[in-house]
Amino acid sequence: MTIKIASLVKFYTILLLMEKPKHGYEIMKELEEKIGKNISTSQVYPFLDILQKETFIKIDKTGARDKIVYSITPKGEEFAKKILSRSGDLFYLAIKPQVSVCTHCGCKVIEGGYKEKRGKKELMFCCHHCARSFRKIKH
Ligand SMILES: [Zn+2]
Repeated sequence: MTIKIASLVKFYTILLLMEKPKHGYEIMKELEEKIGKNISTSQVYPFLDILQKETFIKIDKTGARDKIVYSITPKGEEFAKKILSRSGDLFYLAIKPQVSVCTHCGCKVIEGGYKEKRGKKELMFCCHHCARSFRKIKH
């Protein structure tokens, strides 16, 4: 096992390909929806190359315009299942760098959240209700 899945983008890329074969731009779009922020091609395509080299995925061309479609191979599926069976820990590890804590209630914000500028500082909240409560108390 030479591939390290140390980011949420990589984790989701594999999961998305388990659903069905996808175009590169589909993967990008769905990643952005899932992760809630802009994804750059440099986060996705080099990883797809690696997956392809390991024969975890393969490339097919479809349609009149020879669009490239990525699909997962049986070997890739096995790899994905291994990841999923360990996904409790792994998922947490994968998302850890992106976990922030709500300034008001202290809950962990994994996706989305609500940011508010206060002077030069940007404060993170889980939602705008928390931000409002935070404002009401003394701040
Ligand atoms: Zn909160």
